[in-house]
Amino acid sequence: MGANALTSPASPAAPGWTPDQPIVSIRDVRKSFGALEVLKGVSLDVRKGEVVCVIGPSGSGKSTLIRCVNALVGVDSGSITVAGREVNDPKLDKLALRRTVGMVFQQYNLFPHRTALQNVMMAPVQVLKQDKREVEARARALLAKVRLSGKENAYPGELSGGQQQRVAIARSLAMRPEVMLFDEVTAALDPETVKEVLVTIRELAEEGMTCILVTHEMGFARSLADHIYFTDRGVIVEHGPPAEFFAAPKDERTRAFLGQIL
Ligand code: ADP
Ligand code: MG
Repeated sequence: MGANALTSPASPAAPGWTPDQPIVSIRDVRKSFGALEVLKGVSLDVRKGEVVCVIGPSGSGKSTLIRCVNALVGVDSGSITVAGREVNDPKLDKLALRRTVGMVFQQYNLFPHRTALQNVMMAPVQVLKQDKREVEARARALLAKVRLSGKENAYPGELSGGQQQRVAIARSLAMRPEVMLFDEVTAALDPETVKEVLVTIRELAEEGMTCILVTHEMGFARSLADHIYFTDRGVIVEHGPPAEFFAAPKDERTRAFLGQIL
């Protein structure tokens, strides 16, 4: 099974959508939690195969924004489309959306009493009712892809944080997403295991997976991203290709943030 067969998408695009249009298009999205307006009119486009990094201070709305993309959070106004499908359409099949848009969180939340292999197999077998033997073959290949061959039968508690996070990535890939969302997936890891997770994400991106990454790993963002968005208090303050963004941040808030973190 080739790499493309492993990760090629399962669900078709909306009629009329063509790959020259952004695969993810966020248009003027607003979202409040009670009196707190967390997203104040955010727009962002991602083309197929692009890697977009969202950076910014804690509390600026980064997690909320990417959770809106797979409808874990509903927007108050504005539009988000994935391959032409409006994610806030009440008629949209949420399962289909979440197959199309995979998400990996800071907390990997593997099932502790299931092995690595079982964790990767669970959704395709139980939710999608796919053939168990075929799913197992793919799950083994996906574990190999994230460099965990030999750990198929390990339980999460027997794996390092970085290994568990790679199982979580394989689990997400088992649904054959078209877009992957990564929300600070290395933030809770020991420094020595951060790199192996970043290597996995880099390999995925280099194979052409469309990725939206929220990250504090500036070196990684700089070397991998096609485009950087900087958020502060619910707005996108500035954005641009990494070379421009890091070399000459225009906004005072961006400069202050980069000054702290670099
Ligand atoms: P970031 O990921 O940039 O740190 P978040 O999107 O997690 O920011 O949060 C932005 C703001 O929204 C924070 O003030 C946070 O406390 C608040 N918030 C996030 N999710 C919820 C929620 N479900 N209910 C209420 N407040 C929330
Ligand atoms: Mg967050």
